[in-house]
Amino acid sequence: MISDYHTHTVLCKHGEGDVEQYILKAIELGFDEVGCSDHSPMPGNFDPQHRMSLEQYYSIYAPSVLELAEKYKDRIVVKRGIEAEFLPGQEQWVGGFVRENGFDFVIGSVHFVSEDGEEMPLFGREYEGCELEDLYEGYYEAIRASAKSGMFDIIAHVDLIKKFGHRSSKRIDELIREALKAIKASDLCLEINTSGLRKPERETYPGEGILKIAKELRIPLTLGSDAHRPEDVGTDFDVAIALIEQYADGRMSVFTKRQRSEVRISSLPRRL
Ligand SMILES: [Zn+2]
Ligand SMILES: [Zn+2]
Repeated sequence: MISDYHTHTVLCKHGEGDVEQYILKAIELGFDEVGCSDHSPMPGNFDPQHRMSLEQYYSIYAPSVLELAEKYKDRIVVKRGIEAEFLPGQEQWVGGFVRENGFDFVIGSVHFVSEDGEEMPLFGREYEGCELEDLYEGYYEAIRASAKSGMFDIIAHVDLIKKFGHRSSKRIDELIREALKAIKASDLCLEINTSGLRKPERETYPGEGILKIAKELRIPLTLGSDAHRPEDVGTDFDVAIALIEQYADGRMSVFTKRQRSEVRISSLPRRL
């Protein structure tokens, strides 16, 4: 079994292609499943440049995922997911949104960290020059809270923060371990997200240091490309599959209606 559980579309305004193009790419690669998990809408006018509106979700995204799942059901299993924000103060809204939409899986992401009472986005480079240890502290506190929130099944790109600089210190190592313990305590998965390999970090999210702790804590893993272009579906999955073999005994988690099961990962199908 091979699935890619993390894909976007043009609707998030920093991606390309529609849902069908992502599904067709996954079919071309011979995958068993593809998860559609674009950025969730948010209430009010929060961060509109990185997400679809609620109106677009209900009029375009949700119906097209449903329709296409049916259209391609003999060729691939299409799972209905979402990449939802963890944002302090918005738990009630996000929790309600994910409950009422009957997803197969919900990816929880921290894309914003509080800085002097303001939510600062991690999408850009706003943090350059910040004191790294403080930045890591705020970020991993948010990851810990996201794990405890009960809203998510999978914690996304758990060391995304490393894009602002990587540093190991006793404090940072402790923060990471505490966050992973919270993920385990809530019985959640971590994803191996291959998009970091396409960025200057040149490393999966998370990197192997964190995957070692995940293995020790027996945290289950899922697989996602975080594709923002159809051609990025499944990118570098040879690397990710080797990591699943090494850090999760070759077992990968898949979801149906938010019920997790563990399956044996297969090697990459021959490309057509
Ligand atoms: Zn993300
Ligand atoms: Zn994403």
